[in-house]
Amino acid sequence: MASISIKANTNRSTDTEAEAKVKLEALLSGAIKAALSYEADAEKPTMGIYRPSLLPSCLRRQWLIYKKGLPVSEEKAGIFRIGELFHGFLSRAFRSSGLDVRAEEAPFMIVLLSEGKEPKLGLGPGLRISGRADLILAIDGEAYVIEAKSIRRLPPEPLRHHVAQLQLYLAGLGLRRGFLVYLDKEALRHAIFPVEYDAPLLRGILERARRLHEALLSDRSPEPDGEPWECGYCEFRGECEGNTGRRGRGV
Ligand code: SF4
Repeated sequence: MASISIKANTNRSTDTEAEAKVKLEALLSGAIKAALSYEADAEKPTMGIYRPSLLPSCLRRQWLIYKKGLPVSEEKAGIFRIGELFHGFLSRAFRSSGLDVRAEEAPFMIVLLSEGKEPKLGLGPGLRISGRADLILAIDGEAYVIEAKSIRRLPPEPLRHHVAQLQLYLAGLGLRRGFLVYLDKEALRHAIFPVEYDAPLLRGILERARRLHEALLSDRSPEPDGEPWECGYCEFRGECEGNTGRRGRGV
């Protein structure tokens, strides 16, 4: 009898432990999901305010994002968070090496006035491009924009759309030089590329912002103009006739 009684107690104890474990796991998982859903809330774009990270990519995709909203999966929200972790890592690495980190997540806004006029920097009415540069670093009295990118494979040269994105940061912050820092997601190996202000490249990306704005105002879908690899990662590939169906080098 005694042995039966002991066995029953052990089972109850095991059940209670299992329930406690499940509750704890749910508690921890809930905290992580809550942090990721915060990112999802931040992904609601407003017409008239455009994003440096999106502007170099397919105009059709951007148009659809502004029309329908960007569905942010838990995986994508997680990728944003990984990016933030990398920014923090870089900032600590630079500071602990004695480098002068002037700012983190430095905000800027470019305002484009009417057609044909030069872009004005600062707040005001009109089409806006708003973003945040990861880091501003000062070396020998000159300030540099640092843009960190987590990536699957280190590229042999800076990727075109990242160089274009950096042009907006340089223009918005009134700086001439910056660096793209690629960190591979698995081993934190890195590659660093200097990027200089390039006026024609900047004009091209500002023109894209104008075209996107006009397409949104007129409610006319622009022609797809993404690179083939973009389609493989596009949220709208199932409904777009421009879909190449290709998935190239991941970013
Ligand atoms: S599927 Fe390709 S062409 Fe179509 S919107 Fe997406 S990225 Fe652009």
